[in-house]
Amino acid sequence: MTLTCLMYTVISFLAWRIFLRKPYTLFWHLAFIAATARWAFPWLGSGFISAPVMALLVEFSALGVIFFASMGHCFRANSERVLRYIFACAFVGCSVLVWSTLVSPHDGLRESAVPAVSAATAWLLALVIFRYRPEHLSADHALAAVLALFGVVQVLAATRAFGLGRIADVAALQAQQHVEMLTLPIAYIAISTLVLFVFVSDMSHKLRGMAVLDQLTGLLNRHGYEGLGQLAFSKALSGDRALSVVIADLDRFKAVNDRYGHAVGDKALVHFAQQLQTDRKQDDVVARIGGEEFLIVLPDTTLDEAERIADAIRLTTSASPVVDNVKPLTISASFGVAELSDEDDELSDMVARADRALYRAKRRGRNRVERAGQHALTLSETTLRRL
Ligand code: GH3
Ligand code: MG
Ligand code: MG
Repeated sequence: MTLTCLMYTVISFLAWRIFLRKPYTLFWHLAFIAATARWAFPWLGSGFISAPVMALLVEFSALGVIFFASMGHCFRANSERVLRYIFACAFVGCSVLVWSTLVSPHDGLRESAVPAVSAATAWLLALVIFRYRPEHLSADHALAAVLALFGVVQVLAATRAFGLGRIADVAALQAQQHVEMLTLPIAYIAISTLVLFVFVSDMSHKLRGMAVLDQLTGLLNRHGYEGLGQLAFSKALSGDRALSVVIADLDRFKAVNDRYGHAVGDKALVHFAQQLQTDRKQDDVVARIGGEEFLIVLPDTTLDEAERIADAIRLTTSASPVVDNVKPLTISASFGVAELSDEDDELSDMVARADRALYRAKRRGRNRVERAGQHALTLSETTLRRL
């Protein structure tokens, strides 16, 4: 068990160092260190440490596992409030342990203190994990289920231990420890393995996020918007509903970089991304599709409404400074808007029309919104009909 826990300690350290660098992963690493200590202490033998002190060390390192693992789970799930209850349980458990070992020896109380704390903590953590990220079923829910089961086993263990009474019969005490040695390693391995699965699921979640999100602004990147945008396009086509796109490009942005530096340029991009996101509906898709080029897909929005939205963004952008020092820096953007028409086969057809409108806005002096015309084909058809 010591070696197994040591292995988990090394793996959790690598996971923290290389992939996640989040405080909760560090707490789990500390929990694995405490678990290694819990199984290593008995190996030291009671040659130079008295038996009661050795028992205390084992129980305290088990409490250490509970303490650090709880911190990890609660920080991960943003449920720091639950920690108060867990710490209260652990404090009562510690006090009972010390009292029943050193002050007023009581075998039953001593043996039942840690299992009782483990049971309460396991159930609280199962609840915390179960309520966190419900869309990620597998690893989290398996861990919550195993913790709930572990809680039941620990209640039985605590009840059985308490039944030993003040001075336990040696054979009964050994039998109790025997049962513990049979159940605890299985529980440690099952829980630790599932914690590693949770690590892996968090890493894949993070990588998926990195693949579809722009790291600077937090908006969808080109890859991320394509899926959602195409979905909005198909929905609008099949439901015969309106759909519009807005494409925006910051004006003379190269000059902003040249004058204020790249870092301020980055701030301006983040600032503009915030303007684009303000007042957006849940189904709207906002993406950064190029260096200083952005796209909004607006379901159930007509061309007039899209133009109004673009103009509102244009006005707030040119009115709100990016950096408010002695000489405030304001930026402006040009916009092209297009609405879904019968000739659009794909979202990219609409985007291409919005793009042409955007470049018209640039040619006509920037800091303005231009509406896209219909397809060249439609125009020529209309013209043909007129002839
Ligand atoms: P226009 O009004 O015609 O759009 O002029 P512009 O200067 O904005 O256009 P241009 O395409 O010449 O310049 C785009 C600039 O955007 C050049 C590039 O340095 C800058 N840029 C692209 N990506 C980033 C980025 O991530 N951070 C910063 N700071 N600048 C970026
Ligand atoms: Mg530009
Ligand atoms: Mg550009």
